[in-house]
Amino acid sequence: MKIFVLNSGGSSVKFKILEMPAEEEIASGKVEKLGSSDAIFHLNYNNNKLKEIQEIKNHGEAINLILETLIKPEIEILNDYEEIDVVGHRVVHAGENFTGSVMIDQEVIDTIRDSFDLAPLHNPPNLKGIEIFKEILPGTPMVAVFDNAFHAEIPDYVRTYAIPYKYYEKHAVRRYGFHGITFNYMTDRAAEILERDKNELKLFSLMLGSGCTANAFKNGKSFEVSTGFTPLEGLVQSTRSGDIDPAAVLYLMRKENISIDEMDRILNSESGWKGISGISNDFRKIVEAYQQGNEMAELAINTAVHRAQKYLGAYTAVMGGLDAVVFAGGVGENSVLLREKICSDLEHLNIKLDKKLNQNLEGEGIISAADSRVKIVVVNTDEEVVIARESYNKVV
Ligand code: ADP
Repeated sequence: MKIFVLNSGGSSVKFKILEMPAEEEIASGKVEKLGSSDAIFHLNYNNNKLKEIQEIKNHGEAINLILETLIKPEIEILNDYEEIDVVGHRVVHAGENFTGSVMIDQEVIDTIRDSFDLAPLHNPPNLKGIEIFKEILPGTPMVAVFDNAFHAEIPDYVRTYAIPYKYYEKHAVRRYGFHGITFNYMTDRAAEILERDKNELKLFSLMLGSGCTANAFKNGKSFEVSTGFTPLEGLVQSTRSGDIDPAAVLYLMRKENISIDEMDRILNSESGWKGISGISNDFRKIVEAYQQGNEMAELAINTAVHRAQKYLGAYTAVMGGLDAVVFAGGVGENSVLLREKICSDLEHLNIKLDKKLNQNLEGEGIISAADSRVKIVVVNTDEEVVIARESYNKVV
């Protein structure tokens, strides 16, 4: 069964075609820097790599470009679109409406549209992808895999904000948590690497990419998650502030006469390690500047490390213990420095990094010292595989 996985969101469109249930990749690719004249289209198939730079205005254009390329005779990934048996879509947010993956019908489409407010950057491109496929392949089953479904069962005292309860009842304002598809993969893969039953593990997972989320996992499910009503809460992220006293935000808005929309943009797009350092949202550039002695880069890194350690301690306490710390994401999988700093001076929690294993790691594996009771694991996350698995399980 050929499953086309579409991850259309933020400033990129990623896709993968997988033969299921074997999980064999037929082709994959992505369009980056959407909305610019130098957008990049990457395509991998049959040991071939294609890279094209061209103007791609929006998600619709990117998806159409991907689809047109797949059936080009010289590329021959697909003879025609009918070869696609199922389409799996990543959808970021549907409020409290779905607790698991669902077959897409008109009601699901309407619910995703009704949730635009909850994820303004992600839900519209998610829906665009669904609409394009519905037009091209009207009879093909499509599955929506929700990014926050993984956190659907967090307890009421974890999801509740201490504001008048009527705002939850009226507007569903609560903690939802994000990066669920990645945590689904991370927790399964970490258990495999540790050769343990995941239902018996207490895991502290750090998804560190452009967006960052910490997760506490116990009894085989998500128990706590640092991103909240939106992805803004929690860890220091590339351009998002993470935790901040809401009163500080109100104070700044009054003092500097900042509008609601502008403050929204500052907190989501101008903050995080980019905002502190003034250098870049690209973590590699922050590390380079730090290594050259830049003090603001050092402050940005120290702030991010401190926040991650604070969550580690808090989540260890509320889980009643810890078996492993799990890293994934562009930063989590690649930054030796950040992993070393986050795992430093934690011997009192029985967490001890093996610095050599950390430095020499290729791909994924265990990087804790042999005598560390809590293991440290790096996982190469693969959201598309999770979406393909969920889609497959929905239709068979
Ligand atoms: P997203 O999918 O959320 O856009 P990724 O998980 O791809 O993000 O992570 C992107 C981040 O990973 C960027 O900030 C990038 O700088 C960082 N990154 C990638 N490689 C490295 C590396 N070798 N060292 C440090 N950071 C890295």
